[in-house]
Amino acid sequence: MPAKELNHPCTECKDAESELTVRQKQLCRHCFKRFITHKVHMHINTVYKFRKENNGARHQLLLPMSFGVSSSVLLHMLNTDFQRRLDNELPMGYDLHILVVEPSTMTAASAPCDQNYEALQTNNSMRTVSRIPFHSIFEYVPEMEEIMREYAGPQFVDDTSRSNEERLAAFRASISTATSKTDVDTALLTRLVVEFAKKSGCTSVLWGDSDSRLAAKALAGVAKGRGASLTWQVSDGMSPWGLKFQYPLRDLYKTELLEYAGFTPELSEIIIPDEPPSDNVLTKNLSIDELMMRYVQNQGAKYPGVMANVARTANKLDPSDTKTAPSCTLCGGLLGNVKGNVGVTVAGQAEDCQSSQFCYGCMRSRPGALC
Ligand SMILES: [Zn+2]
Ligand SMILES: [Zn+2]
Repeated sequence: MPAKELNHPCTECKDAESELTVRQKQLCRHCFKRFITHKVHMHINTVYKFRKENNGARHQLLLPMSFGVSSSVLLHMLNTDFQRRLDNELPMGYDLHILVVEPSTMTAASAPCDQNYEALQTNNSMRTVSRIPFHSIFEYVPEMEEIMREYAGPQFVDDTSRSNEERLAAFRASISTATSKTDVDTALLTRLVVEFAKKSGCTSVLWGDSDSRLAAKALAGVAKGRGASLTWQVSDGMSPWGLKFQYPLRDLYKTELLEYAGFTPELSEIIIPDEPPSDNVLTKNLSIDELMMRYVQNQGAKYPGVMANVARTANKLDPSDTKTAPSCTLCGGLLGNVKGNVGVTVAGQAEDCQSSQFCYGCMRSRPGALC
């Protein structure tokens, strides 16, 4: 058969027109998807080695889904691997549980997700899919009630006669700046996901953070005084709650995930697209996390290698030194400074007796905090 006449053949298969340039390769959509999916499968299959099913229990993994591009693409990639193993009668090393924390209970402005959730369930009938509201943190983390009261201080009154939804809203409203709100929300969400994972018998959480997001988290974490807890927020390994945190998308840029989603039509019924960043929002009203994400996305487009380096370097942080150190009751971060550095202690950050329970990062986000 004569070879196809192609103007710009894909450098991998040489059998289709190339559609995009990825890491100096001109690829067609199929080769592109195979190329980046392979990175994720390698990551997962190295960590959760596939055992013969009769010889060992499967790993139980939790994937929190936000209906964003990254977690949706990660799930699609894991499902591709699942199907391939099924077709080839290969052993499955793990079971995947999917958790959706209802976006409308986190951000009032978020779009309704009922249809997206239905599509998620239909496309994942082989998985356990659960959906819980953000305020179910009171049920999953019973001690959170007391932690919130101590954290917010005397000016915050927790009215237990109100619904959990209203109580959580009142607590969140007591925190003043955009950065602090995002910061505390992240701590609460992590706790909720961790406790849900434990109750579901999971031993690991797969987070859908891309390379770009991890770089932004690393930079924002340092800016917010959370350098000491960066280990488990950006690097693969054990978290303070005895669950492993894994970041299988750590080698992929956000732009690559967007391309993948664009080439996968079935994802359009699951993904809720990001709101384009508004130029009208004053910078001072953006959280440090949002600012860093914008910065990384802008700069990452020009210098992808630099951002990859930030995420790669952060992954070298070793949490093993911190196992026995006292930790923050809210976020699980270290209470004092890192081992071997006695320059700053949390007790010096506030004058009340509660100061020792919360880390420096959480103290900065506390209602009424001036720093
Ligand atoms: Zn190709
Ligand atoms: Zn903390």
